[in-house]
Amino acid sequence: MFEAPVQRVIDDLARLPGIGRKTAQRLAFHLLHIDEADAMRLGHAIIDLRKQVRLCVRCFNVTAEDLCVICREPRRDPTLVCVVERAQDIAVIERTQEFSGRYHVLGGAISPIEGIGPDQLRMRDLVARIETEGITEIIAATNPTVEGDTTALYLARLLKPLGVTVSRLASGLPVGGDLDYADEITLGRALVGRREL
Ligand SMILES: [Zn+2]
Repeated sequence: MFEAPVQRVIDDLARLPGIGRKTAQRLAFHLLHIDEADAMRLGHAIIDLRKQVRLCVRCFNVTAEDLCVICREPRRDPTLVCVVERAQDIAVIERTQEFSGRYHVLGGAISPIEGIGPDQLRMRDLVARIETEGITEIIAATNPTVEGDTTALYLARLLKPLGVTVSRLASGLPVGGDLDYADEITLGRALVGRREL
């Protein structure tokens, strides 16, 4: 319907989550009308994001260096590790200001329907960390969903024989949702009131 350079941007924007064709069209025409410098900055920011950002060699958080900003922080308690499904969940936990340990990003949750088993997640990397970093407690902060609960129980079975305590966020979180549906106060309470699995 539009000239190729316009249509291409619309098509690419429409592939992003939560953006339908109408919004994609509106955004494309918005980009045509803003200052050229602003549009260029957005383009370069996306390029830099993909070129410079990689995964932390320790916890698999996103980072621009070998170790992420949390792993680089010397005051963090290395014996306490919060296990999350996705890197963006780290920001959700950090906002509660109730957690001072490190993280481990699994890369998803166990889901037989989607064919995701423990081998598709970063379980082995976590076991290796427990053996080398002196970790004594793991908090399973997977989502309050069937998959998240299954993953937490699997973590408990896998890690308790290694001598670590495995705990789960306390109830009060919205069931079936993602962690980021919870407000900071609820999530902070769930962290403090975590129970051993
Ligand atoms: Zn890290």
